[in-house]
Amino acid sequence: MKLTFLGTGTSTGVPSIACDCETCRSSDSRDKRLRVSILIEHRDKKILVDTSSDFRQQALRANIRFLDAVLITHCHVDHVFGLDDIRPLNFRYGAMGVYANETAWRDLRRIFEYIFNPTHFGGGLPQLIPHTVQHNSPFCVGEDLEVRPLEVIHGKLPVVAYRFNDFAYATDLKTIPPDTMDNLRDLDVLVLDCVRIKPHSTHLCLEEALAIIDNLKPNRAFLTHLNHDIMYERDSHLLPENVQFAYDGLVVEN
Ligand SMILES: [Zn+2]
Ligand SMILES: [Zn+2]
Ligand SMILES: [Zn+2]
Repeated sequence: MKLTFLGTGTSTGVPSIACDCETCRSSDSRDKRLRVSILIEHRDKKILVDTSSDFRQQALRANIRFLDAVLITHCHVDHVFGLDDIRPLNFRYGAMGVYANETAWRDLRRIFEYIFNPTHFGGGLPQLIPHTVQHNSPFCVGEDLEVRPLEVIHGKLPVVAYRFNDFAYATDLKTIPPDTMDNLRDLDVLVLDCVRIKPHSTHLCLEEALAIIDNLKPNRAFLTHLNHDIMYERDSHLLPENVQFAYDGLVVEN
């Protein structure tokens, strides 16, 4: 399994527009964060999680030339506003399977109405094959890559975390229901939301994220959806040995 972090920033990205803080002025490439997204690769299969606002830039940077599927965590702007940019892949390979929960599909159909209720043809619309995921109803992509959707809660919004064999990706959440916790054990790699050091109403803060990691005990954990309060070099000493801040371009394999 190979996981590539395409983006690790909170909804504004880092640097944040018009901010002069230490992180936003940092020249360390690990402090430059596009909006969150990952690429999962296993044998010849490639799965994208979220078409972020920065998807076009991310796809070019990571040289994405094909995708077997796109998984959506939830329909917030930072996670879905790159959806239109799957079109070049549609032009080459046709319609693409897109997976999301029922809540996200309701919002996606409203926000991207032009895709689902086109008023004209011939303009090169994105071509999706919509699939609705259910909590703890796994499906396979290829022969030996199991994708298990798991519900987590982001304020009040049900968001989908995804487990891929012994990797898991859980961003944009404040609480993890017990049943999901049970399904996140025995992981090699856990990627977890951690928006900032101090508490936040809809995201995990550092202390909460570390408590969950301590409970689940993955071999390795990576924190993502980071805002500019977190500076890679300055703040990494706050983390236990098996935990690190993710950064754009980081590749994790087993
Ligand atoms: Zn987000
Ligand atoms: Zn800043
Ligand atoms: Zn969100």
